[in-house]
Amino acid sequence: MQYVSTRGQAPVLSFEEAMLSGLARDGGLYVPRDVPAMAPDAMAALAGLSYEEAAFRVMRPFLGESFAEDELHEIIARAYAGFAHAARAPITQIGSNHFLLELFHGPTLAFKDFAMQLIGQLFQAALARRGQRVTIVGATSGDTGSAAIEAFRGLDNVDVFILFPEGRVSEVQRRQMTTPGEANVHALALDGDFDDCQARLKDMFNDFAFRDEVRLAGVNSINWARVLAQVVYYVTSAVSLGAPHRAVDFTVPTGNFGDIYAGTIARRMGLPIERLVIATNQNDILHRALESGVYETRGVAPSISPSMDIQVSSNFERALFDACGRDGAAVAQLMDALRDTGRFAIPRGALQYLRELYATGRASEDETRATIAAIYRDTGRIVCPHTAVAVKVAQESLGTAPMITLATAHPAKFPDAVEAATGTRPALPAHMADLFEREERMTPVANDLGALQSLIRERRRR
Ligand SMILES: *Cc1c(COP(=O)(O)O)cnc(C)c1O
Repeated sequence: MQYVSTRGQAPVLSFEEAMLSGLARDGGLYVPRDVPAMAPDAMAALAGLSYEEAAFRVMRPFLGESFAEDELHEIIARAYAGFAHAARAPITQIGSNHFLLELFHGPTLAFKDFAMQLIGQLFQAALARRGQRVTIVGATSGDTGSAAIEAFRGLDNVDVFILFPEGRVSEVQRRQMTTPGEANVHALALDGDFDDCQARLKDMFNDFAFRDEVRLAGVNSINWARVLAQVVYYVTSAVSLGAPHRAVDFTVPTGNFGDIYAGTIARRMGLPIERLVIATNQNDILHRALESGVYETRGVAPSISPSMDIQVSSNFERALFDACGRDGAAVAQLMDALRDTGRFAIPRGALQYLRELYATGRASEDETRATIAAIYRDTGRIVCPHTAVAVKVAQESLGTAPMITLATAHPAKFPDAVEAATGTRPALPAHMADLFEREERMTPVANDLGALQSLIRERRRR
């Protein structure tokens, strides 16, 4: 199994190498050279299996020779052992032909645990075998950081530095990042927004001397292994509703495009997904790009669904690569234009490809609040604001196939927004009940590459 960069200039890597390096050295993202198909029989045979066994069967062909079969079984078992629901990703019905895929039963209460817990175990196994250490640096709009810290805290061969935009994450999100006491964990409050965090992260990866000196590794959703982990629940949920014999639709609350790109891969493996719907909040660059054909950044407007408050949607580059006929030079040109001018026009053929692949919709702040309130009134369920954005868009996209809307976080991560909409304050699950009493530890840092690099050099263990 080989992985190639979306910009066409970086070396071709194995699964393990692509996972350990994160971003490709030409600034691109790694994607599989070929997506292995899953035969309808093999897909149907997943019905009734444990989540772990289904995960093994879905992911195995993408890993090539990187991990032995027994080792992979153990890694997957450890990754999902800390989830609070036996099904790991259960689905529930919220309306006629409309289902919620609950992805918030992991240790930090958001879907990112599915990928991050797995990648923690994969890193540990690979690094122990190689006798290496790495420095993981991640940027977060809230949920990635806590999921990464939870997955890597206390590991011997890894130091973790998480950049989050100061004052722009919820208190629960911040506390999940700042309260773990392990010496290998560092929460950095950056003076800027999430796009600044992402930009500084990319700068660090593009400074090859620094990258090699500290053995930088990335676990943002640009890391292919994370996308792969997320493919699994598309397959298991669709199979539980009758796939591959029956087609399904998915609506995905989208920010950095990692989750919906996993759905794209599931479809390329052969999962019958009729419609794949991108749901955005008021930061709707993806919705505008597919409507107008111009991908153009505007300032980020903070919303009640902060994990989707983003303008540069990193994984969109992967979809663009496919849309441009896998022409890395063409993608590199578009990305250069984006960096220099804040916009690019999607080439005509690519736009047509993307419009066939995805539908899009957006939810304003008022619509998001109204949807949280309506779901509570009609079903007694409380959903998080990200999920509400997707439910609103899904309701406008309902067709004949069952619609599966991804519920990406537990409402207790966003208690203020949820209470404002429903009058009810969602409680944290028991294992986190003392979060507000734990001591916080974080380091404020300027939006400056040099300052960040010195801090990381000084703090990492050797
Ligand atoms: C990260 C996140 C999203 C967006 O997912 P992407 O893969 O970045 O598109 C949506 N909802 C929640 C709760 C998240 O944490």
